[in-house]
Amino acid sequence: MTSGPFDRFTERARTVISLAREEAQRFNHNYVGPEHLLLGLVRQGDGVAAKVLSNLGVELPKVRSTVEFIIGRGEVARETGMTPRFKKVIELAVDEARRLRHHYIGTEHLLLGLIREGDGIAAGVLDSLGVDLEQGRTEVVKVLRQAESPFRTGPRREPTTRIGVGYDVHRLGEGRPLHLGGVSIPYHLGLVGHSDADVLVHAVMDALLGAAGLHDIGHYFPNDDPHWKGASSIDMLTTVMCELRRSRFEVENVDSTIIAEEPKLAPYIPEMRRRIATALGTNPSCVGVKATTAEGTGPEGRGESIAVHSVALIRQR
Ligand SMILES: [Zn+2]
Repeated sequence: MTSGPFDRFTERARTVISLAREEAQRFNHNYVGPEHLLLGLVRQGDGVAAKVLSNLGVELPKVRSTVEFIIGRGEVARETGMTPRFKKVIELAVDEARRLRHHYIGTEHLLLGLIREGDGIAAGVLDSLGVDLEQGRTEVVKVLRQAESPFRTGPRREPTTRIGVGYDVHRLGEGRPLHLGGVSIPYHLGLVGHSDADVLVHAVMDALLGAAGLHDIGHYFPNDDPHWKGASSIDMLTTVMCELRRSRFEVENVDSTIIAEEPKLAPYIPEMRRRIATALGTNPSCVGVKATTAEGTGPEGRGESIAVHSVALIRQR
């Protein structure tokens, strides 16, 4: 589905189509029909169509049991193909988008297509759940209007790639180990902080959380919480990744610049990239780490602290 008829479909609409295939397999049906598309729309959960269906009281278990009641289950799972009716719904969805002057095809258009197709099993399922088709149409238009705020021009876009920026600084002090990017570096001073004070990992977390529109580090790891006292920042990064995955984000790449007068960091950079990449569930080639000095200027230049700037690009599945 990377080219051709699905080009203008949003990520959510594409997800619905793959969920429809999954639903067909779940029922051992040897075809993908509008009824599976309806299940996909209910299952997808957070698009315009899902909102309409939930407003109308249509729930996944109810749709599943009604489909099973009407068609039953197949004997064995076989290769599934799309029925002419399914293709018709797709055509109608494209037409609905055109009529609404939307440049994209989203879940709402799929739902309108489903409603317009009319006399299929999906329509029958909606009908048996007490959803009047006219009422469905009205609700779609209503939810679309609510989604179109007066401040926004053009159609609603579903953001899939997001960028975030992070910054952190820690003081250097005696009697502390120096941890950067999860690597322990021999030096007579270390970074001062509640956790292991890994300033590089903190800046990366900051960038990731910002990109995902989540809370800042202090929210997840309060510095008066004994649990995080002396904690490994790499473990904290793993926790941050769990939060991101819960919002269906994965990392595209991160890049960081360490500002430190001393010590020489070049020999440790490959290992920093490996450790951060492991925590992010990505490849070291997607983790940039550079080191620079401040040419003797400011607190970093005087060797009083180490600062890090990071950026992160993430993608929503
Ligand atoms: Zn920090």
